[in-house]
Amino acid sequence: MDETDSYNPTFKKSGRRLVGFFPVLRRLIDCRRPANCPPEEVLVIIVLKPNYTEEQLNHIFRQLEEMGFRHELSRGVKRTLIGVIGEEDQLRNAPLRAIAGVEDVMSILKPFKLASREFQEEDSVFDLGFGIKVGGGSLMMIAGPCAIEGEEILLEIATAVKAAGANVLRGGAFKPRTSPYSFQGLGEEGLKMLRAVGNELNMPVVTEVMDPRQVELVDRYTDLFQIGARNMQNFNLLAELGQTRHPVLLKRGMSASVQDLLMSAEYILANGNKEVILCERGVRSFDSSTRNLLDMACVPNVQGLSHLPIIVDPSHATGRPDLIPSMALAAVAAGADGVHIEVHSCPEKSMSDGPQALLPNQYAELFKQMRELAKIMGKTIPETKPAA
Ligand code: PEP
Ligand code: MN
Repeated sequence: MDETDSYNPTFKKSGRRLVGFFPVLRRLIDCRRPANCPPEEVLVIIVLKPNYTEEQLNHIFRQLEEMGFRHELSRGVKRTLIGVIGEEDQLRNAPLRAIAGVEDVMSILKPFKLASREFQEEDSVFDLGFGIKVGGGSLMMIAGPCAIEGEEILLEIATAVKAAGANVLRGGAFKPRTSPYSFQGLGEEGLKMLRAVGNELNMPVVTEVMDPRQVELVDRYTDLFQIGARNMQNFNLLAELGQTRHPVLLKRGMSASVQDLLMSAEYILANGNKEVILCERGVRSFDSSTRNLLDMACVPNVQGLSHLPIIVDPSHATGRPDLIPSMALAAVAAGADGVHIEVHSCPEKSMSDGPQALLPNQYAELFKQMRELAKIMGKTIPETKPAA
């Protein structure tokens, strides 16, 4: 079974119809509780080619038996199907599609497991430090400059966004710039500034980590790791962050599907860190009028598939201060677990992403509206304690 293209969200319905062909398997599939059903065992359905031969069929049976799977044949009027039961991890990786005579392999398995709603029905709620939490109705409101440029300016921006209501401070010390000649961030000096300002204002801080070799260093200063869009599929980095104990804000890659995003989250979870927060930040499109194309449907889409919190970053999604407020409000209305916005007190002097930054007063105005909307949506915005 091919992990990358076997997932079919419409399968739930059609799969159930197909399962009707197999009385024994039907029982297996329908008993969702481990008490009746060995939790490790799952079902996939092989659809045979219309012109398969009996020789191919026997070969398929032999292959399945060799792989240790049980099977049941169903010859329909139009199509012939084989239900295959086996241990989940083995079935996930079995190259069933490669066997002669097989047309398709349909699975009720999602390729992600720990991230799925089936694995955990209730929303995950994570403690971010400083009394702030995200998920299960608590909104994480991240704001701050794109890059940390100096302690004074960071404190000025942080004080303003905190006063507006932001409960997590952002700032990049390692910047993934498209050009190697652009400002790359202040590195450890920047991390120190971020930590100092976060402590002074009693705000958890989030900052990007780009390389597995930076993880240990960033871990000493941050409350949350950010994985940027460009690194969403840096699997070594994901695995490394799986070893840490700080929550990870995982941004969607610019050409990543929702499934790709959840698979990347799965890497972190499978490596031991259970605290992953997803972030929709727009994907590349044909339209150059905005920086990216904001996929707002991703929010309820992900929430249906996963228990992990998902927030929206309208700053990188649109790249336009005139569009950010309405998209931030749309994110709250769509049920997002938070909003991530870049704010700068002097965008024209900003060393990174200045053109998309909101001014502190624009952010404060927007925050009032987001607060009202959050109330209507039955959400709460945890408040930071007064500055130390
Ligand atoms: C950022 O948050 O500044 C950033 C670079 O974001 P993204 O990875 O979404 O482009
Ligand atoms: Mn930025």
